[in-house]
Amino acid sequence: MLLRMVALVLLVMLVQLVICQEDFYKVLGIKKNANDKEIKSAYRQLSKKYHPDKNPGEDTQKKFVEVSEAYEALINKETRQIYDQYGHEGLKQRQQGGGGGHHDPFDLFSRFFGGGGHFGNQPGQRRGPNIEVKVGIALRDFYEGRTTEFQWDKQQICEDCEGTGAADRVVDTCHSCGGHGVKIVKHQLAPGMYQQVQMQCDQCGGRGKAIKHKCPVCGGQRVVRKPTTVSLTVEKGMANGARVVYENEADASPDYVAGDLFVTLVEKEPDLEHDNPDHVDGTFFRRKGNDLFWREILSLREAWMGDWTRNLTHLDGHVVRLSRKRGEVVQAGQIETVVGEGMPIWHEDGDDVYHKTEHGNLFIEYVVVLPDQMESGMEKEFWALFQKWRGKNGVNLQKDSGRPEKTAHDHKHEEL
Ligand SMILES: [Zn+2]
Ligand SMILES: [Zn+2]
Repeated sequence: MLLRMVALVLLVMLVQLVICQEDFYKVLGIKKNANDKEIKSAYRQLSKKYHPDKNPGEDTQKKFVEVSEAYEALINKETRQIYDQYGHEGLKQRQQGGGGGHHDPFDLFSRFFGGGGHFGNQPGQRRGPNIEVKVGIALRDFYEGRTTEFQWDKQQICEDCEGTGAADRVVDTCHSCGGHGVKIVKHQLAPGMYQQVQMQCDQCGGRGKAIKHKCPVCGGQRVVRKPTTVSLTVEKGMANGARVVYENEADASPDYVAGDLFVTLVEKEPDLEHDNPDHVDGTFFRRKGNDLFWREILSLREAWMGDWTRNLTHLDGHVVRLSRKRGEVVQAGQIETVVGEGMPIWHEDGDDVYHKTEHGNLFIEYVVVLPDQMESGMEKEFWALFQKWRGKNGVNLQKDSGRPEKTAHDHKHEEL
């Protein structure tokens, strides 16, 4: 009985332990072998999701702290190694031994997004400008959907000095202006007459702060502009010109909360070599809304006599079969509608469920190419057919020898 009680207590304790300290990899929703980029990306997303500004409540606040703890432990090589080997207990011991504690989760947040660790919803908090970026997307990716990446030159808070601008990360109050950023300067207008003018402090540039040694990475600017990779998910059937919003992902600065990054998806010109295995004389898929267009080339014989098949490779590689039976004529410029072979139809209402049956149409335009010169066999064949046709239609066969004969009607004209 006692044993059973002890076992139960132990079990309860274990469960509590598990609840208190969830696995850092699970917290960030990443795999054990995730790289730094994946860790950062997970932190960016989750810290915004659970930020108390967005989701007030104890639960989200706790999550927010957990996410920042997990990030800090895993982004540092040393602590990650300790965590992988000894788990939470190992990290605790290291902290007790003076191995560095946790940062304020809001500080960490502001290092990513600028400002004071908040979203800029607080009154008086400045917001940086929104930024627009255009990203070229191949038609195939609009069709199939794809998670891809793009790069842009983003202003980031300098990691070396943590946005202080100082090599030693120590920022003092400017002695010249006493931290006010402005100085009162007396101008002598005439002997005994002075004018007091308020001027921006030339020592600190109006910031009221002084640093002894400028950070060598940012030159004291506190920010650096560097190519930044952003992950982008193109959903099936998204419109050409669709806009994806990344909240607080525009230029960051310690002085303001980052604005939003707007990414416009623009359809790339087709790369005929790579995007189009069927490419013949500049044929490729063109998109208009939910429909696709394709130009198919037929020879004169095919257009006239029929009896042909084309296996058209679609954007995702599946085959659309076009064919005519013998004797089925295709007129030059004729348009054939292949129902349901257009673009997948994207639901703007945020419907995640993609309905497979919902596609636009594919329109095939037939272009008939006449041969430069008839092969002699073909010429005979056509000639025989032509003679037959003329016979049937009552055209005089005998006098057909090059130049057309004048008709009675023409004679009349000449006489007049
Ligand atoms: Zn100053
Ligand atoms: Zn710096």
